[in-house]
Amino acid sequence: MPIHIENEAQRCLNCKVPMCQKFCPIHTSIPHIISLFKEKKVMDAGKELFQNNPMSVICATVCNHEAQCIGHCVLGRKGTPVQFYEIERFISDAYLDRMSVDRAPLKHKKVAVIGSGPAGMTVAIILAKNGYDVTIFERKNKIGGMLRYGIPEFRLPKSILDRYQKLLTRLGVQIRLNTTIGGALRIDNLFRDGYQTIFVGTGVWRPNTLGIEGESLANAHFGISYLENPSNHELGESLAIIGMGNVAMDVARTAFRNGVQKVMMFERGNHATASSHEMSYAELDGAEFIYGKSIRRITEKGPVFADSILDNEGNVVGVPEHEELVPADSVIIAISQGPKDKLIMSTEHLEGTSRGLLITDENSMTTVEGVFAAGDVVTGPLTVVHATEAAKRAAEAMMRYMEKEDTSAQA
Ligand SMILES: Cc1cc2nc3c(=O)[nH]c(=O)nc-3n(C[C@H](O)[C@H](O)[C@H](O)COP(=O)(O)OP(=O)(O)OC[C@H]3O[C@@H](n4cnc5c(N)ncnc54)[C@H](O)[C@@H]3O)c2cc1C
Ligand code: SF4
Repeated sequence: MPIHIENEAQRCLNCKVPMCQKFCPIHTSIPHIISLFKEKKVMDAGKELFQNNPMSVICATVCNHEAQCIGHCVLGRKGTPVQFYEIERFISDAYLDRMSVDRAPLKHKKVAVIGSGPAGMTVAIILAKNGYDVTIFERKNKIGGMLRYGIPEFRLPKSILDRYQKLLTRLGVQIRLNTTIGGALRIDNLFRDGYQTIFVGTGVWRPNTLGIEGESLANAHFGISYLENPSNHELGESLAIIGMGNVAMDVARTAFRNGVQKVMMFERGNHATASSHEMSYAELDGAEFIYGKSIRRITEKGPVFADSILDNEGNVVGVPEHEELVPADSVIIAISQGPKDKLIMSTEHLEGTSRGLLITDENSMTTVEGVFAAGDVVTGPLTVVHATEAAKRAAEAMMRYMEKEDTSAQA
């Protein structure tokens, strides 16, 4: 039976030291939001949620709640924790299209935001509200980043992103779609054209490869490329997925919804990296989990494995000679992602780590003066709430930087 959020709110103990709030990565003031909700002040609660987390309605839908807010509710120690995210989703959904878009007096200063995922949208919203002229540059033909092209529709309806686009437009944010920075236009061109600061929130879009024979065969695909457009892929009846992270779980569940009958998921160690919640849904959909298999190569008939030799901690310490073909029509490799290198290659002095992630200082500034960055492109693949929290800090640092520039110009 669906829970009733008003009953759920009544169960909150209003703890003096709310552990739910402490373990929420963006420190949502959960007990206070619940108090406002109980007083039926839904718009006030929505405002507070949005000010703290402009992606609140999305986080309420896709956060790993079990590891964060509800996983630390004291009521969960002996019984059922308060399902706060259901309350948050109701409030933020009600607020999103009804909020008034008050902007601070216009500052007549231009800011460029590269990428329209949660990090880019967060920076754009905060800076626009503070009176800056914001332009988003987005490589794809729609906004949203991994929220649109990664997380499947059955977990996050894409209509929410159209509502965000309307909000951005109401805030005066300009959006240039189908525009890759690091292609025809580069970061220097943005400075040339008067943007005072630049935010990079370009995420991680290069699938990690296995470096084995067969990865370029027609029956082999990469997880995030598949999720971008599942209906364009003919996977046949049986699918082998290499990897058992959250992306792999989304691949499995999407494949079932696109007609695949049998999904086998392989992990070389003895444990998966996906959350138990995502795994249980994939299992309910019918996915089979097979551990201790090291992939050797991919063939047109399916993947070839050897049994991993594991130590006591479950780490792979060897692979025997004996190999086994697992018949499958298609193979999808889902073993995480890294950033593309277009921006680093096209921007003088922009430095990355050995994995290509952008290096930033404590103020979220990259190695290029005036260029800030946050989200997956800095941390590697994490989550929406982590990208949003980091982007919020970057937006604040960008405003401090621009104010300081003004003061030095006046002195
Ligand atoms: C399949 C999948 C499922 C996930 N499920 C969840 C989940 O359930 N819960 C959760 O919290 N997180 C989930 N995540 C992770 C989450 O989506 C990311 O952590 C988050 O989107 C990162 O935000 P971001 O803004 O840093 O980058 P992205 O969302 O990756 O956005 C980057 C944007 O930049 C654009 N871009 C890139 N390069 C350029 C360029 N040179 N010029 C212009 N534009 C550019 C891209 O097109 C994209 O729109 C999932 C990720 C995937 C792949
Ligand atoms: S932002 Fe995420 S972790 Fe924080 S309270 Fe909301 S759903 Fe929970």
